[in-house]
Amino acid sequence: MLGEGILKGMAETAKNFAGSFVSKERLTTVEYPEERIAPAENARVFPFLVYDTENWEAGLRCVACQICEKECPPKCIYIDKSKDKKPDYVGKQQFYPTRFDIDISVCMSCQICVEVCPFEAIKMDTQFELATDDRFGGLLLDREQLAKSNEYYHEIHPTEASEVDARLAEEKAKADAKAKAAQATAAKAAADAATKTAAPASPTQAKPEGGQD
Ligand code: SF4
Ligand code: SF4
Repeated sequence: MLGEGILKGMAETAKNFAGSFVSKERLTTVEYPEERIAPAENARVFPFLVYDTENWEAGLRCVACQICEKECPPKCIYIDKSKDKKPDYVGKQQFYPTRFDIDISVCMSCQICVEVCPFEAIKMDTQFELATDDRFGGLLLDREQLAKSNEYYHEIHPTEASEVDARLAEEKAKADAKAKAAQATAAKAAADAATKTAAPASPTQAKPEGGQD
């Protein structure tokens, strides 16, 4: 029948409209900002930098490799690499960003920076209330504003964060085992060298007592 779909749609709308007065299930909107709907676990807005430990600066996972800066399609990431190094999560000495800014007025929330990061250092936030009347400075987030703890990451993306933790723990266990094996090899080599040094020189022909010259 011509217009059947329209009539069905209008009936559904009328049912929801009338039903919303008696049942909250029928409500499709909330009275924001007093009421809020929790974002879905896979929601993504703008990136943030993950840090471990209590200290955001020392605990940043980012090693300033600049892959995300190169791969970001609209080029809205700005990184300066440090001159010195600090240990990363496996204890390996790594560079770190002395500057890490993201211009969120340009960012298009594509998540490519997250996908290319080899260090699980950058993830997508679900925070969307970022309105400001400072068009330029207010939307250029620096590393301190971008830094958020691993606990926060677990709060907003629990499944993904647990998977990342498991992966990092596995990598750390492998690195620890490798370091332990290297230490054992070095210790064995040192012990062998010490044994050789301490061993008496090869015996010379001893002259028999009372023998003739
Ligand atoms: S989400 Fe996309 S646009 Fe935004 S910083 Fe990452 S790579 Fe760039
Ligand atoms: S966030 Fe990741 S990809 Fe970007 S510079 Fe840091 S470690 Fe490299």
